[in-house]
Amino acid sequence: MSVAATQTPPGQCPQCWEHAHNKRIHRKLKPREDCKPCVDHMRNGCPYLVPKKPSRRR
Ligand SMILES: [Zn+2]
Ligand SMILES: [Zn+2]
Repeated sequence: MSVAATQTPPGQCPQCWEHAHNKRIHRKLKPREDCKPCVDHMRNGCPYLVPKKPSRRR
């Protein structure tokens, strides 16, 4: 089994990241059809970003 990088990196929007990396999601769309979630995030911004891990290094 291959370990796909499905985890959203810190500071990224899970949805945008997933859509950018998982081509299957957009493959369902028709040629001229917009991806509503993507359009929504582009217009309104991303409602949630994966929080960056606090660095505890000293
Ligand atoms: Zn999308
Ligand atoms: Zn987003």
